[in-house]
Parts: sequence; C-alpha cells; structure tokens
Amino acid sequence: ISSLREEDPDIAAAIDAERERQSTTLEMIASENFTSPAVMEAQGSVLTNKYAEGYPGARYYGGCEHVDVVEQIAIDRVRELFGAEAANVQPHSGAQANAAALSALLTPGETILGLDLAHGGHLTHGMRLNFSGRLYDAVSYRVRESDHLIDMDEVARLAREHRPQVIIAGWSAYPRQLDFAAFRRIADEVGAYLLVDMAHFAGLVAAGLHPSPIPYADVVTTTTHKTLGGPRGGVILSRAGLAKKINSAVFPGQQGGPLEHVIAAKAVAFRSAATPEFRDRQQRTLDGAQVLAERLRRPDVAASGISLVSGGTDVHLVLVDLRHSELDGREAEDRLHQVGITVNRNAVPFDPRPPMISSGLRIGTPALATRGFGDEEFREVADIIAFALAPQLTARDHSELRERVSSLAGRFPLHPHMESVVKE
Ligand code: PLP
Repeated sequence: ISSLREEDPDIAAAIDAERERQSTTLEMIASENFTSPAVMEAQGSVLTNKYAEGYPGARYYGGCEHVDVVEQIAIDRVRELFGAEAANVQPHSGAQANAAALSALLTPGETILGLDLAHGGHLTHGMRLNFSGRLYDAVSYRVRESDHLIDMDEVARLAREHRPQVIIAGWSAYPRQLDFAAFRRIADEVGAYLLVDMAHFAGLVAAGLHPSPIPYADVVTTTTHKTLGGPRGGVILSRAGLAKKINSAVFPGQQGGPLEHVIAAKAVAFRSAATPEFRDRQQRTLDGAQVLAERLRRPDVAASGISLVSGGTDVHLVLVDLRHSELDGREAEDRLHQVGITVNRNAVPFDPRPPMISSGLRIGTPALATRGFGDEEFREVADIIAFALAPQLTARDHSELRERVSSLAGRFPLHPHMESVVKE
C-alpha cells in the first residue's frame, strides 16, 4: 500500500479510512464478512494481469499454464467442499452466477418461480427491474402472514398453475431453513429444474451446520463472500449432465475473461472452509444469532412494538420487525449507526412502509464471529442493540453505548498484522 500512497494518495486515504471504519465499528450486515489476509494476498496478486478466456486446458490465450493450475484447484476444492459433481468458479458475482445458471436452464420468455423480493427473495429471483424479471416470465411465491414461513402449498399451487421451467429456492432476508425435499417434489411434479441459491447460507452448509441443497437441486449457485467468508464472487455447482451447458452460459454466454486473481482467492477460501476452525466460526455465527434473537424477544423490547420475523432464527441473521414500533427501518438503522453498529434496513413481509424506509432491520453475525466473537460478546452486542432501539435515548445513553461498542471492537482487532504493515 505504500506505493499506492505515493501514486494515488486520494484512493489510499479512502482505503485507510475504510480500514479504520471496519476496525472501530461492529459490522452486522448479514451479507458481509471479513476475508482473510491470505485471501486478500491472492486477490491482490499478479494473476490480475492475465487473460484466460475458456477453461483449464482449453483456453483462447497463451501463457495460461499457471492460471490453469489455480482454476483447477479452485474447482476441485469447491466440488469436494460441497460434494458437487461439477463446478464453475468463474462468475464475477452472485448475480452473474444466477444470470448464467438461468440462461443455461431456460430461454427468455419462459417462466421462473422464485421468492418475492418483498418477502426475502433476491433481485435475481424475478424482480421486475432486474434481468430476471425482464427476460423471464417471473412468478413469485411469498411467506404466510400467520407465521412468516414460506407456504409450500402456495409454491405447489403456483407451480401447477404456471408450469415454470425453473423453481428458485433461496433468499437474502429469511431467517429459516428451506425444505429442499419439498421443493424437489414440486419441481418433479411440474417438470421444472430446481435452482437453489445458497448465497447466504453456503458457509453454514460447508460447515455441516445447515442441510445441503446439493442432493436435491439440479443447480446450486452461491456467492463466495457472505457466510463463506471468501473474496467477492460467485460459483455455480451442478449435476455433471448440466456442466457443459452451464460452462458455455458463463463463457462465452455472460462473461469474457475470468478474474483469475479472484478465482485464486476463492480457492484459498474453499481450503479454509474445510477446516475445524471454520466450523467453529460458523457455530459461533449460529449461536450468536440465537443470542441476538433471545435478547430481542425479551418483554422490555416487545413492549416497544419490536418483534422478530418468524419469531426467531435458524441461521446467521435475525429480521427485526418494526411494523408495530414507532421507529421505522431507516431510523433504527441510523440509531445503530450512531453507536457504531452497521446493519441494513430491510422490508419485512407485509410491510406497510415504502422500501426506502421499510419496517425491518436485517442483523447478521458472520463478520463478528470471524472477528472472534463468542456467546459473551454477542450477549453484550445484543444488549447494546436492544438499548439503542429503546423509545427514548439520552445523549448520555448514546455516548455510553458508543463506548461499549468501541471497547468490544478494541478487544477484537481486525487482522492485526496487516494493520502494522500499513502503519510502516
Ligand atoms: N443471491 C442472493 C441470495 C443474495 O443475497 C445475493 C446478494 O445479496 C446475490 C445472489 C447477489 O450477489 P452479488 O451481490 O455478488 O451479485
């Protein structure tokens, strides 16, 4: 970074400021994580210089002998990690992975059935303004109003009525596990492919702490940077019989040259995801979410109209339901931001407020678990959050909460040895 500081002080200063923000605040955006110095080293390597259109052993450029090794290792590791027959590690992001997977499985104008964005789905599962809603005839299933769980009877009914070519199971804001076997039965009944987007819970699956979609799905997509904790990027796993179609949907279908430096970083992350330390981290992630749910269900919090979507969580996040609270999603996000906790506001099912304001907060534990948090620290964070969302807060409360956040952040330094490199 010292050469960056000389060559481009503006960017270097912004990076320094971002590092400081990440170190001194508590990151609880459910889709974020801290990747390791080894991952960042691979991503910042000379591999960024290389063009490698094609796949290992079949490239359209010379000089690919070393990137072939890198990409093949990444493919082998991710296949082994999840027990998948085939893997494509080239998608630049989760959205690209879904675009390629869908384009391999159906043609524009045909039908997809996915979870409504307003009920926890992702943009790429059929949102009107996204490629998925524009290219395909997108039909959405929703959660039940009574318990906020996906209504599998409704999924079956919509599948029979609309005969989708692809059913998508997966979510960005849903605090429960999905019934993959039920999705499979419905897909079989109507002759659809089943695509599971496990972007959020891939790390839990890798650790064996969440059911795997691999035995049920034709295609599984994921990002590599959420619970999985790797570099930003995407992966597509599939049955062997679909591999050729998927590979050509990624390249030349959607992308040009793969980002081999990112693929190297993905490989590093896949290796680490097979270790006992990673499993321990995912366990702390899940335990932390339980601690958070327990604290936010206590009567003093409930008294101000705050509850949890579906009443709790089975995964790495809770969705706070503010529909009956005087605080809206934006105010609640600001409250936590002011004390040094970063979360994102989120629509909750049947949200009466507009999406830009919303009535929910999505709070996740992966980044803090990576930082080393265990039950005790998650209890402290949960207490801080509960206090920060109380109806009345004095300036003194604010500064006390900020202090408690700083003290926690100070006890769990972020990549300590990297900071010392930067300070040289
Ligand atoms: N799929 C799901 C379920 C997601 O939650 C996300 C990201 O939020 C994506 C796909 C898209 O990933 P990316 O932001 O890397 O395009």
